[in-house]
This record gives sequence, structure tokens and C-alpha cells, in this order.
Amino acid sequence: MTAPPFLPFALPEIGEEEIAEVVDTLRSGWVTTGPKARRFEQDFAAFLGDPTLQAIAVNSATAGLHLALEALGIGPGDEVITTTHTFTATAEVVRYLGADVVLVDIDPATLNIDPARVEAAITPRTRAIIPVHYAGLAANVDAILTLARCHGLKVVEDAAHALPTTCGGALVGTLGSDATVFSFYANKTITTGEGGMVVTRDPELAKRVKVMRLHGISRDAFDRFTAKTPSWHYEIVAPGYKYNLTDIAAALGIHQLQRARGFQQRRAAIAQRYRAAFADLPVQLPPEPAAGELHAWHLYVLRLADAAPLARDAFIERLFALGIGVSVHYIPLHLHPYWRERYGLDAAQFPHSQHAYERMLSLPLYTKMSEADIERVIAAVRQQLLQG
Ligand SMILES: *Cc1c(COP(=O)(O)O)cnc(C)c1O
Repeated sequence: MTAPPFLPFALPEIGEEEIAEVVDTLRSGWVTTGPKARRFEQDFAAFLGDPTLQAIAVNSATAGLHLALEALGIGPGDEVITTTHTFTATAEVVRYLGADVVLVDIDPATLNIDPARVEAAITPRTRAIIPVHYAGLAANVDAILTLARCHGLKVVEDAAHALPTTCGGALVGTLGSDATVFSFYANKTITTGEGGMVVTRDPELAKRVKVMRLHGISRDAFDRFTAKTPSWHYEIVAPGYKYNLTDIAAALGIHQLQRARGFQQRRAAIAQRYRAAFADLPVQLPPEPAAGELHAWHLYVLRLADAAPLARDAFIERLFALGIGVSVHYIPLHLHPYWRERYGLDAAQFPHSQHAYERMLSLPLYTKMSEADIERVIAAVRQQLLQG
């Protein structure tokens, strides 16, 4: 018998419409930021369903987070509070601006940033909070916004996992923070290969993000190209960045976005299959959203119970040997040398993140999984956790 092929941890679902739109872009003569990027921005704002929102396309969520914090004036001497249980991009952008990162622990039930820990970390230097909607489950944005209002702080949501996610029935992106940033990286819930979107209701913030995403030029290249009058003239108003999204990428995004609701339903259905199949195992299942709320199910994170017959690392090795790709989200920031050494951190300061990290793994969860793929993951997990 030949072994079944390796089941990857994540795969994008790119359809014929995406491919045709990319080809159309390639044939059009306009391959960088132009009409498709603009359409993707308009479609994205329409998807969120709030006409007061502006959506600004960028070439990654990292770029979008950087631009949002820059537009809010974060700089040296400032502190920004975020969760230790995230990808380094959430925090590194604060350092780009010369400000300091203050990491806090998570709520062990949801794995999202704990508002009580945020409150305890506020100092006179605190300027902003970056909640992350971990795995696609909404963070407690209400509590964070209340804290921000009381203390005069800005809030930028890292919504890299949260398309579409709701909080109190409202889509993430519309919740009332200063800016929300989505990612279209290859393994996210929709993808443009690389890409991101900054969403805001603040016209001044939007204006600054647009200028800074393209060199600090007062008008973007597409405006200059399509203007009806001679348009060679432009002004540089700041030392900006090169963070614009290409039309090739936006062509993918336009069609991925149209499928985002369907993708979410498929992901939620797979999560329900896992939930039913693993209910009797020595594991902690991922938290479910409250009734009526959308969970994007970017990740399916299991935590091994202390009664599990094997430890997390051994479990991952067994699954890998069975040809199943898994991952860990995340090695918390406090364990990485840069963050640990810069801020003198140790695991005892983050007991919930540390405890979860030592027991967690993320199973394959993506729309292209077949029934057989799902069954294979279920069988492998059950076999290892029942036998050890
Ligand atoms: C993927 C991710 C990012 C970065 O997104 P890019 O588009 O790759 O820059 C930021 N934060 C979190 C939580 C992520 O998972």
C-alpha cells in the first residue's frame, strides 16, 4: 500500500473567476495599483455594509498596521499594548515607529487579549491598544473601546483572522475602533497572495494612510495617469512607504471577497465536524462564538488536556508521520529572543498564554479539504489520543 499524499496545513481556494480576472489585468496594460485596486476597496467597504467606512488597499496587513499607527502619530516615547499570543507582525510595527510594545496575557477561555490585563498595563505613556481577533473569534472589543475612551487611547484592531467575524452582531471592521486591518496572506480566509486592507471611519486617518502608502505623494499614480489635464506635477509631503496593492493582487481579491461568506460557512461546517468528532477526547476544544455571532474559523486550535496520553510535540510528530500538516499559533512573543531580551520578559508573566502554548496545535482547516481529508484528520487525531 502506498501512503496517502501529504495533507497540507493550509491551501488557498483560487477559482476560474480569479484566474480570468488576473489574466484580464495582465492584458489591460495596467498591472500596478489602478482600477482593480479601487474596485476591491469599494467592494470591501460595501461588504462591511457601512457607507461611512473607507477601505484602503495595501500590500500586507503588516503594512496596514504600520500605516494606521503612523497616521495616529505613534512614535518614540509612546507605549502600545497588545497580546503576547500573536504573530510578531502585530507588535513589530510599533517598533518600526520607535515606540515600545507592552505585551499582556490572554483570557484562557478565548485565547484573546484580556481587557483586565490591558487595564493593568496602562501607564501615562500608553497611546494605543491593538486587540487581535485570535483564530477568527472576536476579541472583547467593547471592553477595549471602553478602556480606550476612559484613558484617551487609540485602538487599532488586528483583524488578520477575522473576515468575516461579528461582535455583537456587527462585522469586525465596523466596530468603532480607529482602524481595523485585514490580511490577504496566502493562508488567510481570503487571499491575494500578499495583501491587506485598512478600514476606518476617520477621514483624516484615511487621508494620511493613502499618502503614506505611496511615498508620501500628494496624489497617487493612478490619479496622475488618468487625469484629464496634464498631470506631471506632484508634491512629496512626507517620507512615505511603498505599501500599495497591485491590480494583479486586487483582481484576486475582488473574486475572493465575493466568496468570503461561502468560505466562512464551509470553514464553520468543518469546525463542527471536528467538534463532534473530538468531544470525547482528552482535549480542550476551541471556544465557540456566542449564539448568532460569526466566527471566521481561520484556525482550529486544539489544546491537549493533562490527561492526554502524549505531549504536544510528540502528538505533532505522530500526525506529521501520518502525513498530516499541523502548526502552532503561536509561539508567544514573550518566548522569542528579540521580545524577551528587549523587554526582559519571562513566561511567568504570561501564565495563560504559556499554558495554552505548551498544549496547543492547529489542525488543517480550509475550504478545499475534501470529505476524505476531514475524515483522515479525525481518524489520525482520535487514534493518537485514544491510544497514546
Ligand atoms: C498574518 C497575520 C498578520 C500579518 O499579515 P500579513 O498580511 O502577512 O502582513 C498580522 N497579524 C496576525 C495575527 C496574522 O495572523
